[in-house]
Amino acid sequence: MASALHRDTLDRLIAEARACRACAEFLPLGPRPVFQVSRTAKLLITSQAPGTRVHESGMPFTDASGDRLRAWLGMSKTLFYDASRIAILPMGMCYPGRLPNGGDAPPRPECAPLWRRRFLEAMPAVRLTLLVGKYAQAWALGPAAVTDRVHDFRRYLPRYFPLPHPSWRSTLWERRNPWFAAEVLPALRAEIAALFDAPLADP
Ligand code: SF4
Repeated sequence: MASALHRDTLDRLIAEARACRACAEFLPLGPRPVFQVSRTAKLLITSQAPGTRVHESGMPFTDASGDRLRAWLGMSKTLFYDASRIAILPMGMCYPGRLPNGGDAPPRPECAPLWRRRFLEAMPAVRLTLLVGKYAQAWALGPAAVTDRVHDFRRYLPRYFPLPHPSWRSTLWERRNPWFAAEVLPALRAEIAALFDAPLADP
């Protein structure tokens, strides 16, 4: 009975969020919230905001950033898109447009205060949250340099694991910070493997 009640709560929340138009006037392609949630997900990926390809597909991380993130995680698409095990909730759920210099606009500031706590309360099974990029990290931990946060990832376990945003710029960042591939990624994969009984990648 209680779990059916909770399922209804999450279902209602999903429907409410999908109909959100709170910052529609600022969204160049209009509202299309993109997220993946469930009552049973143990891993939460807190990301930044959808790009245009994700806006088109309506699925999180269906772009080069997603390929890079899955490579970091050593994770198959099958597991990545299994909502019963993995939730993906960006700080801004709709595509926010671009800055005048061509970079990604930040997540809309209206979004996280409106939705984030409610979704987190409706996902009680989450054990580990990946904080992907500076906006997710600032929200959960306060402002600090992403490189320092990622370097000191052990300080935030077992609840949080900070990561850089996996945009094309992160390939340059990775070259400058070889400890990321050598130390952080193996630890990240070990933390996630400990959450799940199944292997992270397809055989
Ligand atoms: S970005 Fe968030 S607050 Fe703005 S319309 Fe989309 S779901 Fe609503």
